[in-house]
Amino acid sequence: MHRVLSVASECVPLLKTGGLADVVGALPKALADHGWDMRVLLPAYPGLATRLGKTAKALWTGKELFGGPAKVLGGTIEGLDVLLLDAPHLYDRPGGPYGDATGDHADNDIRFAALSWAAADMARMGLGDGWKPHVLHAHDWQAGFAPAYLRYGPETDVKSLITIHNIAFQGNTGAERMKALRLPAEQFTPDGLEYYGHLSSLKAALVTADAITTVSPTYARELMREDFGMGMQGVLAQRAGTVHGILNGIDTDLWSPEADPAIHAYSARKLGDKKKNRAALIDEFGLGYFEGPLAVLISRLTTQKGIDLIPETLSEFTWRGGALLVLGSGDPALERAMLREADLNPSRIAVRIGYDEALSHRMFAGGDAVLVPSRFEPCGLTQMYGLRYGTVPVVAATGGLNDTVIDATPAALAAGAATGIAFHPTDGLGLAQALRRLVDLYADKKIWTRMQRNGMKAPLDWAQSSGKYAALYETLMP
Ligand code: ADP
Repeated sequence: MHRVLSVASECVPLLKTGGLADVVGALPKALADHGWDMRVLLPAYPGLATRLGKTAKALWTGKELFGGPAKVLGGTIEGLDVLLLDAPHLYDRPGGPYGDATGDHADNDIRFAALSWAAADMARMGLGDGWKPHVLHAHDWQAGFAPAYLRYGPETDVKSLITIHNIAFQGNTGAERMKALRLPAEQFTPDGLEYYGHLSSLKAALVTADAITTVSPTYARELMREDFGMGMQGVLAQRAGTVHGILNGIDTDLWSPEADPAIHAYSARKLGDKKKNRAALIDEFGLGYFEGPLAVLISRLTTQKGIDLIPETLSEFTWRGGALLVLGSGDPALERAMLREADLNPSRIAVRIGYDEALSHRMFAGGDAVLVPSRFEPCGLTQMYGLRYGTVPVVAATGGLNDTVIDATPAALAAGAATGIAFHPTDGLGLAQALRRLVDLYADKKIWTRMQRNGMKAPLDWAQSSGKYAALYETLMP
């Protein structure tokens, strides 16, 4: 069996702040079907190591890992093969994976360089139980130095791959940190690690990894453009031949309207039962009577997600019979803007600030449509949950949203293929027009039901995409 070491800062079911964790947690199971044995390395944040229970084995030690001793404990947690990098001086502290209430940890460059250093060493030398990977798969900037340490260290046949989950996060730090981060000074050049006078761990991976992937084909193309590349477009364009877009899948065991314990079950054939969820949701949020579509939004409340475009569209949408439920948290100004809309029209708009997994399931089940008006969206998961639940996605035609939703154009409707509504460009006018189309399509029950069923049948699990990762790993093998 071929082996991959996956390196990341978060992983479901251990710890999640975003879609990255879903992907890192889903890949090992999906890749096993293609003959790849994947172990996931992540920091031993407080409380994680005890979850290994009796399976815990010490598999690697580092006497001095960037300021203190470290070891790796391997074992299984909920069926997942994990390696936890136990380095108390770096990871044993309160708060989330990146910071606490006062902000990001000041030494995040060291914390994640250490993760990457340990990963490269394990890949090169193998683990205490004889396990040695053929490929090191790094995720995002936190693992970005791992391909660089492999490339600049002693010769090895281990190949590396970096996946960009979001180019907005680049792991930038000061040029003077090169030495502390154990990087060779002569690599600080525009063709190497230098990034506009700074050092960037993401760029380090983009110039040293054997292959680059991102999480949708459209985002892979967008990233080479100035308006999406966030400064990395040139580096990516130079390496265009090694850049691949592979769509994320979703975990259809957790996200399935037929078997979801959080909702009244329904299926594509028995869509009538979805109405029970709608009624319960309207009741839960205390909305009044309305005839149009019930739109839901489950999201980080940030400008990336286009949340600032929503308020200007709501008076027309609700006047035409629609209603909106929001679950999310993020930018305080956007939280306030959403709450203000709910205050102005409480019978049609309701907002919950916070993170609530169970409520998100009830909203996907009870909504008629899910809004995803992102300015950029590497892949996006919520539109896929919407498709799966017969909750028609209304999306900006960008990144993975563009690759997963078939817009209800006249041609797509005539072919019976439409699964949602996509608009372009991402601005208030585009969203307002999309909501107009939503109200009209919703009123035509025949077309609407067809769209719901098309979405529910769309292949969204990992079967296809894991095959693409496996095929890519194969091409890297000697
Ligand atoms: P991103 O990773 O950019 O935030 P994705 O769409 O890839 O966006 O993934 C977001 C994930 O987080 C989805 O699984 C979504 O359902 C979930 N999510 C976002 N906000 C909330 C919330 N307030 N409550 C529950 N789940 C949420």
